[in-house]
Amino acid sequence: MKLEDFPKEIQPFVIPKQKGAEMVYRCLGCDAEYGIEKLLYTCPACGEVLLIYDNNFERLKKISGKVWHRIFDYRKMLKMPALRGIYLYHEFIGPVIPLSSVIWLGEGHTPLVQANEIMQEKADVKFYFKNDGQNPSASFKDRGMASALSYINFLVQKGLVSDVLAVCASTGDTSASAALYASYLKPHVKSAVLLPHKKVTPQQLSQPLGSGATVFEIPGVFDDCMKVVEALAENYNVALLNSKNAWRILGQESYSYEIAQDFEYEMQNKVVMVPIGNAGNITAVMSGFLKFHEVGIISKLPKIIGVQSEHANPVYLYYREKDPKKRKFEPVTVQPSCAQAAMIGNPVSMPRVIHLADMYNRRAGKQRVFFVQVTEQAIMDWQLTANQNGHIACTHGGECLAGLVEARKQGIVREDEEVVLDSTAHALKFSGFQEMYFENKFPAEYGISPKPELVNAPTLMRPDDLEKVPAPGKPLEGEDFRLFVKRTSEEIAKALDLKKV
Ligand SMILES: *Cc1c(COP(=O)(O)O)cnc(C)c1O
Ligand SMILES: [Zn+2]
Repeated sequence: MKLEDFPKEIQPFVIPKQKGAEMVYRCLGCDAEYGIEKLLYTCPACGEVLLIYDNNFERLKKISGKVWHRIFDYRKMLKMPALRGIYLYHEFIGPVIPLSSVIWLGEGHTPLVQANEIMQEKADVKFYFKNDGQNPSASFKDRGMASALSYINFLVQKGLVSDVLAVCASTGDTSASAALYASYLKPHVKSAVLLPHKKVTPQQLSQPLGSGATVFEIPGVFDDCMKVVEALAENYNVALLNSKNAWRILGQESYSYEIAQDFEYEMQNKVVMVPIGNAGNITAVMSGFLKFHEVGIISKLPKIIGVQSEHANPVYLYYREKDPKKRKFEPVTVQPSCAQAAMIGNPVSMPRVIHLADMYNRRAGKQRVFFVQVTEQAIMDWQLTANQNGHIACTHGGECLAGLVEARKQGIVREDEEVVLDSTAHALKFSGFQEMYFENKFPAEYGISPKPELVNAPTLMRPDDLEKVPAPGKPLEGEDFRLFVKRTSEEIAKALDLKKV
């Protein structure tokens, strides 16, 4: 829709203005604030992680929640590329970023797909998958990258930086996304990614290679790669694109804003379930709902449940202690997990989680943030079950569904609630785990054995009585071909128990 066709009273708000925002990095350790003219990842004074705040956030409260609903809903009808992705919520994500610096590669506004009756019965509650695997690099990481790279583009355009080398450590999806977005900003931005050797899937490895990034494989697990990247960011002139970079968090808040909008801003009885790895995503999800709540765009905070595998569960273990004063964070040594993108023992965003979960619960006046853990077996079983019922969930989506079943069992989720599960990536990225399940080839450390009813395999149909069958480059002709078609179709009909017409 064209701007002049919008209702008169909404027109002045449809295109966001850069005026008024005062964005700063704020340290979660010592509260120090720093300007955003340069890239900063940790507090120069105390070394703690940062979040970005708008010191003039109050101005957004001058517009009522009802008017915000109309602004976002009308904005969705605009065809301006800069406002078609995460920056539909520009005022809440990056109000200082001019629309001319925004990069949109198709990310955001991923579908919320309601589970069918069979699945709702199995889970004993109404639920949806939000398919973040339908983002351009096939994971939710594109939300944060769109924000981080739009910000870098802004710095490039202002002449504050040039020849940027963007680096990240990755369990696979961060590097796929970073390489994609960086390649769009050629020649001003180049990217290098560090991956744990043999701990990303072949599909994930193909992505940064395909985008033209420099790819390094490092021995060990993600936590080891992360330390190397941190050393690079501390000692050399590079732009760090891990979620330690607070701009990533801002972009990922769009996930919460979309959920609010998709439910007409009614968050009563809603539950949002997310897998936790480096804990950037759950940080962003909490932060997003808190901001919308503060401005009155939503009047209730949804329940948030973080889920981890038993094989990489430091956040779960921290919160298992009920007394906040007795809680003590301990990194864990991870074991192989089919939720491989979340196989992280020392999450960088843990201080953010502690800070925001506490604030979230206080704002709600009761506990609204919960954590559960699930087995590797449950992750695979639920992923395959979901996908046999119309979904395209990755293993982490399966982890969410397994987490939902666990949360129902524990009474954390009630029957009358509606649950949004985050399928953080596309199933195809993790098809190797499905293959290991179907072929019963999981190494023992995973502790996964296939359930026969979930296993699927192709059947080679070659009737024994056929002398000749076609081969590539060697087609059959005449009677041979007729016989091949007849016998093969007969055998398939027999296998499927088909009735003759
Ligand atoms: C990165 C990632 C996660 C974990 O998200 P964090 O922000 O690191 O907690 C989960 N699933 C997929 C598919 C991912 O790529
Ligand atoms: Zn500090």
